[in-house]
Amino acid sequence: MYKKVSYWEQNTFLADIDLVIIGSGIVGLNAALAYKRTFPKRKVVVVERGSLPTGASTKNAGFACFGSITELISDVEKYGEDQVMDLLKKRWEGLRKLKERIGEEAMEYQEYGGYELIIDPSKDEKIKDFIPFFNDRIAAIIGIKEVFSNVDYWQKFGFGKEGIIIQNKAEGQIHPSKMMIRLIDLVRQEGVLILNGCQVNKLQETAEHIQLNCNTFDLEAQQVLIATNGFTKSLLPDTALAPARNQVLITAPIPNLSFKGCFHYDEGYYYFRNVGNRILLGGARNSAAEEETTDQFGITELIQHKLNEFLSDIILPHQKVTIDHTWSGVLGVGPTKVPIIKKIGERIGLAVRLGGMGIAIGTQVGEEGAALFE
Ligand SMILES: Cc1cc2nc3c(=O)[nH]c(=O)nc-3n(C[C@H](O)[C@H](O)[C@H](O)COP(=O)(O)OP(=O)(O)OC[C@H]3O[C@@H](n4cnc5c(N)ncnc54)[C@H](O)[C@@H]3O)c2cc1C
Repeated sequence: MYKKVSYWEQNTFLADIDLVIIGSGIVGLNAALAYKRTFPKRKVVVVERGSLPTGASTKNAGFACFGSITELISDVEKYGEDQVMDLLKKRWEGLRKLKERIGEEAMEYQEYGGYELIIDPSKDEKIKDFIPFFNDRIAAIIGIKEVFSNVDYWQKFGFGKEGIIIQNKAEGQIHPSKMMIRLIDLVRQEGVLILNGCQVNKLQETAEHIQLNCNTFDLEAQQVLIATNGFTKSLLPDTALAPARNQVLITAPIPNLSFKGCFHYDEGYYYFRNVGNRILLGGARNSAAEEETTDQFGITELIQHKLNEFLSDIILPHQKVTIDHTWSGVLGVGPTKVPIIKKIGERIGLAVRLGGMGIAIGTQVGEEGAALFE
């Protein structure tokens, strides 16, 4: 019988696979690590469609964040205090685990703090009233007092227009690709095989195994974990998840840049940070919600215009700056902020829908995805 792979390949790379993980993002790699540490003798293969990981994990903004004040207020109003505090605890715990696993230096973790810009004065009083409420509850969870404070930095940072700034002193930032390179090293050290350039197009579960049809060759495994986040619908169209494209730009170096840290604006739809003395700015997808509900990479004139406008009106008023590089990434969102981690067949599990906090929760979601299997 003719096969695309050789006899040798079939009986080594592709033989006797216990678990296939689809997707080599932060979730897929952490799932591989957790599964292999629980079952060291089992064979784990991660299949990734891109020659690099081609999702959000190497394209994100690198905010090691666990919640900005307006987001927390709006979430408490929508989902209730218990759910929000429970999620916050998971994010904090996730960040702690990530730092422990990767090492702060390896992923260039810097705790410059996080800041939220509020330009609408009608919101100021409500936000200021909520600060002590959250500080009390967050101190009990993370052991740091007075996490949020209203700081008088608008002028110092040189921003345009007028507004207030709420600081989160425990927020940090990382280099996402350095984090992922370290994670890939750890996974390989455990003996996991990563097959790049292998896109899974179809899954079929039988009594004996699962058959995966890929663009390159077909695979068989005992179990499969799907960790494809924003791209899940092309494999499983009924998943309660929508892709959300985010466009990002980075400037040329700016002499004497007046701030360091991670900044949130407009309920997190805009975000920016320093990368050395450059500015990374992303978001604005609420300006074209329908168009940006896509899992296709790319940039648009409208969103780039919105980002440039924000850069010149708020971040660097009256200063000419060169944009060095633009790109896009795709995340997975849904009706709640709780990820989907469940079995969808006897042999198939799903660990997706991380929203905009995958750095904080990706480690845990991967571990919980691996724990679906015995
Ligand atoms: C621009 C941007 C900025 C962000 N900023 C932040 C931030 O600052 N802080 C934060 O915490 N989070 C941020 N996020 C969100 C965060 O990056 C994600 O939540 C996280 O990376 C999701 O990880 P994942 O492993 O679930 O998915 P991904 O990293 O998307 O990985 C999924 C992988 O599956 C692969 N794949 C998909 N379909 C198939 C298939 N059929 N066959 C084989 N392989 C397949 C993809 O190529 C991809 O590599 C941002 C996201 C974006 C897009």
